[in-house]
Amino acid sequence: MVEIPEDLRDQGGTPALDAIRTLRQQLELNRDFGWDMPVASDPARVPVEDSPTADRAGEGTRPPAGGETGTTVRETAVAPESLPGPEKGAALEPVEAEVAGCTLCGLCEGRTNTVFGVGDPGARLLFVGEGPGRDEDLAGEPFVGKAGQLLNDIIKAMGLEREQVYIANIVKCRPPENRNPVTEEIAACMPYLRRQVEIIQPEVICALGGVAAKALLSSEASVGSLRGKFHDYDGVAVRVTYHPAYLLRSPHEKSKAWQDIKAVMSRLSLPLPS
Ligand code: SF4
Repeated sequence: MVEIPEDLRDQGGTPALDAIRTLRQQLELNRDFGWDMPVASDPARVPVEDSPTADRAGEGTRPPAGGETGTTVRETAVAPESLPGPEKGAALEPVEAEVAGCTLCGLCEGRTNTVFGVGDPGARLLFVGEGPGRDEDLAGEPFVGKAGQLLNDIIKAMGLEREQVYIANIVKCRPPENRNPVTEEIAACMPYLRRQVEIIQPEVICALGGVAAKALLSSEASVGSLRGKFHDYDGVAVRVTYHPAYLLRSPHEKSKAWQDIKAVMSRLSLPLPS
């Protein structure tokens, strides 16, 4: 625990106190995870690294066709690269509305809510998990349970807030008994995620767990073998790491996850721990 120096306690909500509180939060995260956490600077002021297309293409395989559904989600084409950040949110709205009424696969039958995604539509970083669990189904928001709390901690460790990234899933409806989505369900739902990626145009996608990695990369390889390099999904760099729920069950893997996250931070030119 970092004690606030006596001479700063009387200054109320000064920048100095805010900085100490931030440092204390990060040291507490460090203690919890055993990670070499960075000390955050202002990520909004970090210059964007030039990312030539050839470099972003990486070594990954092409994404799957993703289930040509013929639904209107593919007919809401815009030129995402021409959209300023605030308008990306508006461009996502019709896609979200379509998801809300979607019955393209059997997962619609057991859902309480569809779970489209949350965060900044202009985000540089997109986290993608596999699908909603019970808490997410009830809330209509991805990553709100214990795994979501760990993801929030990871985002904080990057010097960011949850609201500064975008979080989505491969499938938008909860698989029963929290089973993995099957191939047909993934194929039916992938066009929605593809549309989200086209509109948000993140610089990096962080695939959380095997289902997300395999769906994005059209690969049957394990998370362990997909880690360690950047892949490509429709021209966006993809880094694969472990799902937070797996990290809760296997905390000894957190150090590997932190290596993955540091690679993402480096790609985004976010300040790394010294
Ligand atoms: S999981 Fe996706 S494809 Fe299946 S019903 Fe839900 S929104 Fe539609």
